[in-house]
Amino acid sequence: MEQKPILIQGAMEDEIATLKQNMKNIEEKNLYGYTFYQGEIENYPIILSKTKVGLIQVTAATLIGILHFSPCIIINQGVAGGITKNVHKGDIILGESCININSYQTPNKEEKEGSNPFTWDLKTFKEGIDELVVLEANKELLQFVEETARKQKIKYSKGRIGSGDVWNAEKDRLLWLSEKYDVVCEDMETVAVYQMASQFQIPVLGIRILSDNVLLEETYDKTVGKIGQEFVFSIIKDWLMHNNTKNTK
Ligand code: SAH
Repeated sequence: MEQKPILIQGAMEDEIATLKQNMKNIEEKNLYGYTFYQGEIENYPIILSKTKVGLIQVTAATLIGILHFSPCIIINQGVAGGITKNVHKGDIILGESCININSYQTPNKEEKEGSNPFTWDLKTFKEGIDELVVLEANKELLQFVEETARKQKIKYSKGRIGSGDVWNAEKDRLLWLSEKYDVVCEDMETVAVYQMASQFQIPVLGIRILSDNVLLEETYDKTVGKIGQEFVFSIIKDWLMHNNTKNTK
């Protein structure tokens, strides 16, 4: 019986290095310009994917990962920026839901009327849809990760991730995003992965550790990615223990 692998993704080397160290029997595969590490955790097949940064790169890497390896679940993880005053550098955020913060419609304005980003409404451009689509994490996976985190006494929060090819550092913009759209942190990948996973009906969860929070003057440090990966590694081990029969096909 063939076991479907778990696909774990990270955009940059600092976001995958620790997981790579914790995998056994690793074989590196380069597919269409993207790097995948095929290996094992606790004898279970794992695909660790370095997706590169941004929505376009991660979409391509996810699609290749799905088509080539047929994963049973997808965990997208890495660093993100906190955009409310309630979250700090080093905090772990489980992406209960996700929106694209790069997708918006502006109001009509005449020449010389200028431009005001606070009047741009986030919106999903999709045939037959005229509103912002919110994508959800897999509920069972989210619940399991929460239970495991509580059991292991690891502090976390859950909420909405906003993704886009954008690094917002204007405090009023960050507060506008968090207050109007309920976003807790921003990154450049999660929403694309949720979208691909939903298209292929693969359970997905985004797990982020905060590398920065402009609102609190907490500057970017992507090395916190190591702690995030240690958390993901402990979750995967627990998941495998509990599902050693379910994931086989
Ligand atoms: N050139 C820098 C930054 C890369 S882009 C470097 O080499 O480290 C930042 C990456 O971190 C993206 O993959 C994104 O998902 C995440 N990220 C962390 N903080 C972010 C923030 N405040 N806004 C957007 N993305 C952020």
